Amino acid sequence: MNYGTIKYYDIANGPGVRVSLYVSGCRNHCKGCFNQETWDFCYGEPFTEETEQKIFDGLSRSYIKGFSLLGGDPFEPENQLALVDFMERLRAKFPDKSVWAWTGYNFESDLLTGKKGDPEVCMRLLKCIDVLVDGRFVEELKNPDLFFRGSSNQRVILVKPSLEKDEVVQMVSETDRLYLRAFLASDEDDLFEMLGDEQTMQYIEPACSREKTAEFLHKTCMGSANAFAIELKDTGKMIGCIFFKPLGERAFDVCCMVNKDCRRQGYATEAVNSAFDHAFTEMGAFELSASIDERNEPALKFARALGMKFTNTVRVGGARLLTYVKTKGNK
Ligand code: SF4
Repeated sequence: MNYGTIKYYDIANGPGVRVSLYVSGCRNHCKGCFNQETWDFCYGEPFTEETEQKIFDGLSRSYIKGFSLLGGDPFEPENQLALVDFMERLRAKFPDKSVWAWTGYNFESDLLTGKKGDPEVCMRLLKCIDVLVDGRFVEELKNPDLFFRGSSNQRVILVKPSLEKDEVVQMVSETDRLYLRAFLASDEDDLFEMLGDEQTMQYIEPACSREKTAEFLHKTCMGSANAFAIELKDTGKMIGCIFFKPLGERAFDVCCMVNKDCRRQGYATEAVNSAFDHAFTEMGAFELSASIDERNEPALKFARALGMKFTNTVRVGGARLLTYVKTKGNK
C-alpha cells in the first residue's frame, strides 16, 4: 500500500490534535473530490515499518488525541489487507487514543455484508475504529459547516455500539466524556428511567408509563434530526436527552434532561454546550430558547450558567415560565 501524506498535527479531521494518514487508492471517484491525486493506488510513498514507527512516535505525544485514517479509501480491499495488522498494533499500543476513519463505502451494505474485501479482514479493521464517516462525497450536498464530513448524506457512525447493538448508531457530536447521538430502539430502558421518574419530570409533565415512553421513543425521538440521546462513553449508558423544538425560522425551544443519578457531575453542561454548537452550525439555528418553570431553581441557574439571557415571562396553565434565550455569536 502507498500513502500520500502523514500529518502529525492535524486539527481538521476529528476532535483535538491528531496524527492523520492519507492512504492511496480509491475507486469511488466522487464528483468534486478534493483529493483526486490519491485515487491512484501508486500515488505517494510505500507504507513501511519505518512509516509505522513514525506514526507511533507521533501518537505517543501526550497532547495527541487520536489517529485519523483517510484517503483515498482505507476500505478498498487491498488497503484493508495492508492496514489491518498495523491498526491492531496501533490499538494495542494506544488504547486511550480515539481512532476515526473515512470511507466512500456504505457501512451496512458494503462493509458489514463483506461486499468490499475479505469479510473477516474488514471486520477486524472495523473493530479498530471508534468513529467511521461513511458514504460517497456528493457535491450537491456539500456543506462546510458539517461535523467532520463533506456532504450531508455522509454519516458519522459510532462503530463499536453499532456492532454491539446491531443497529447503526449515528453520532451528532462528542465531548471528552459523552457522545451526542441519534436515538435507538434499545434506549427504551434508559429513557424510562428518566421519563418514568416523578422527580425528573416534576416541572415538565406527569411521569410517563412504560408504554407511553416506548411510544414517545418510537414516534418522537427515533429518526428525528432534532432529538439527541446523551451517552456516557465509558459505559454506553444513555444518561440524558436533548430536544430542539422548531419555533419559527432558525429558532428552537430547547429541553434537556439528565438521569438523576448522573447529576452534579457536569454532564449536562458538557452535553448542552456541544448540542448548542451543533444547533448553531449544522441545524442553522440563530436563536435557542428555554421556557423554565419559575420554581425550578436548578434549571434557571443552569440556563444562566450557559450564558442564556432572561427575556420574558409567560403563563401556561397555572405555571409561570421564564424564557431564557441564547443567540448565535452570543456565546
Ligand atoms: S471516497 Fe473520498 S477520496 Fe474517494 S473519490 Fe470520494 S471523496 Fe475522493
